Amino acid sequence: MHPLLLAAAAFASTAAGGLFAMRYRQYLHLILGFTAGVVVGVVGFDLLPEIFRLATEYDVEPSHPMVALVVGFLLFHAVEKLLLIHRGQELSYADHHHPDVGLLSALALVGHSFVDGVGIGLGFQVSDRVGLVVATAVIAHDFADGLNTVGLMLAHQNTHRRALAMLALDAFAPLAGAASTLAVQLPPPLLPLYLGFFAGFLLYIGAADILPEAHSHRSSALTIALTCLGAAFVFAVTRVTD
Ligand SMILES: [Zn+2]
Repeated sequence: MHPLLLAAAAFASTAAGGLFAMRYRQYLHLILGFTAGVVVGVVGFDLLPEIFRLATEYDVEPSHPMVALVVGFLLFHAVEKLLLIHRGQELSYADHHHPDVGLLSALALVGHSFVDGVGIGLGFQVSDRVGLVVATAVIAHDFADGLNTVGLMLAHQNTHRRALAMLALDAFAPLAGAASTLAVQLPPPLLPLYLGFFAGFLLYIGAADILPEAHSHRSSALTIALTCLGAAFVFAVTRVTD
């Protein structure tokens, strides 16, 4: 399986999410609930065991990839909240949504999608199995990425045309990210550190980004059940493929 092929699946998932956001708003919370479960499940049932396996293999102190995990979590937290602070100030200065703020937030999402693609590419440098696992997490949540890109652009009074252009950019970003990893080979002892960083990034997206969004309108037992189902789904898949 080639990393670019899976990055192409990420492209399709992002595009589908964006187009979905333009039409079926009422079911979004259910899909986001399931997605959050999948992402958290991938971190716990697949990435973490893989990190510890690699750490043993390359004789890396296990606390180092865990530091990378927390750094990844906090870094994406900081970037996202700093953009929100900017957005909040903008709103208090003028009582309207400014298209450039939507553009800035959407561009941050594009940067994040590039990291998604790098994750797939470097995952395949560890092994085909890790590459597939990372790709699963990326493809599953890229639907939410596409959805957020369109949502952000439209919420800030951008035209449908600009929203679609930004969606296209966001969809292409994983392909560019995966392609960029074909030129570099990460030294094996760095792989557990990188996977730790990526696990922190995914954990943030799943727990602090997608999950709150799934419950933003009103919490429902069905959404919670779908989140548990998403995590259980990943658990079952990892048992079968082990
Ligand atoms: Zn993403």
